[in-house]
Amino acid sequence: MAETIVALATPPGRSGIGVIRLSGERSLEIAQKLTDESEFIPRTAHLKQLRDIENGEVIDEALITYFKGPNSFTGEDVIEISGHGSPVILRQILDLCLALDARLAEPGEFSLRALANGRMNLAQAEAIRDLIDAQTTASARQAVRQMRGEFSNQLQPIKDDLLDVIVVLESALEFVEDDLPEMQAASVKTKLIDIADEVGKIAATFKAGKLIREGLKVALVGRPNVGKSSLFNALLGTDRAIVTEIAGTTRDQLHEKFTIQGIPIALIDTAGLRETEDTVEKIGVTRSRQTMADADLVIVMLDGSEELTTEDAEIIESVRDLQHLIAINKIDKSTKEEIGDVVEWVRSKVKDQRSSIIDLSAKTHENLIELQNAIIEPFAPEDIESSGFLVTDARHHDLLLRSQTEIENSLDLLEQRMSEEIVLIGLHNALRFLGQITGETTTEDMLTRIFSTFCIGK
Ligand code: GDP
Repeated sequence: MAETIVALATPPGRSGIGVIRLSGERSLEIAQKLTDESEFIPRTAHLKQLRDIENGEVIDEALITYFKGPNSFTGEDVIEISGHGSPVILRQILDLCLALDARLAEPGEFSLRALANGRMNLAQAEAIRDLIDAQTTASARQAVRQMRGEFSNQLQPIKDDLLDVIVVLESALEFVEDDLPEMQAASVKTKLIDIADEVGKIAATFKAGKLIREGLKVALVGRPNVGKSSLFNALLGTDRAIVTEIAGTTRDQLHEKFTIQGIPIALIDTAGLRETEDTVEKIGVTRSRQTMADADLVIVMLDGSEELTTEDAEIIESVRDLQHLIAINKIDKSTKEEIGDVVEWVRSKVKDQRSSIIDLSAKTHENLIELQNAIIEPFAPEDIESSGFLVTDARHHDLLLRSQTEIENSLDLLEQRMSEEIVLIGLHNALRFLGQITGETTTEDMLTRIFSTFCIGK
């Protein structure tokens, strides 16, 4: 019998309400003991006084909802206690549940039970984790699609087709003395080519899926006063994402997160690249070079309203081997002819570099959209926001590729007229890999590893 588990389902800290969730056989009994109330109608909110089991003192008034298994998130009896969001009270309620023989849930244990009880498959459970972790609306949207079963539904017919082929080959193995008849062999091959193709197509969506999940690191470099901070603000003003600490960047480098067409962009303003004798500044320069080297894209910013300098030329030179674009700023201060001259000058400096050059004004926002498009264009040539379901998880991508390779190998063996027995090995592997995405063929070890990436209370 599974133990009854309990966890805080809302973040720790002060809040309007805090939710404690119980799952397992004893959930209802624990709720009854905490409230002195025997009647809990399933799926109905009950406003109850929670009492200390030792001295009967009222510790909070809470809304309690009972979900009778199997019609609950986990498939077991579930109790949700929505108390006031005081860390002290919530701790006390949690302790009382523990005293009443519940045990603290492991990360992801509620979802793991939902999986074990057939309430969802593995890809759906992972989607819930991804939804909670999503930093942008685009990745949240993909997670919701996966949670609602879109990925599993795409995989199911492929798995069915693969199984059909396996059955044909297995029966040939059992009943026929000779090789597969020519006609049947041809049809098996066509089917396998189609299946490998379908798997490959789904795997290929990972390029875009990874982009919306992990986004791009963009470094901004340029002389002082060319308008880097202004560009920062201009870009942030349009669509700010949740600001998070970006690993590997230092505090003296300004960094922010925003999105362009659903793609999270981490923009890092480098400290500068000036050759210097000053020790502190030297460290800054080394860091800036590191940041630029680590970035997916470097934006070199120039002041289009001024004479360009040798320092500008040096900066352009330093990005020669990096993916970069050149932004000529302050076009609102110059005439078209002046801008044309600057662009000419830049072109002469980058004549053997494939740089895109964008002229813009960080102040008036002229051509800001052009710059945004130029930032993502090398990475996302197609419009990601209007695309279909995307594979966003590296684990899923890896399994799809492995499955595709196995099918292709089996096809080769079939081509070489190898025995069905040998051909079947690869096909069984392919089916197993696909099954690992949705969890039918996932081992206990793998599940433990996957669910350890979930948060507690989920
Ligand atoms: P940074 O040192 O590179 O970060 O440059 P700032 O963003 O601080 O800008 C330096 C100065 O240039 C400020 O006075 C800005 O207001 C001004 N500036 C920045 N961008 C533009 C622009 O597009 N047009 C005009 N006219 N002024 C700008």
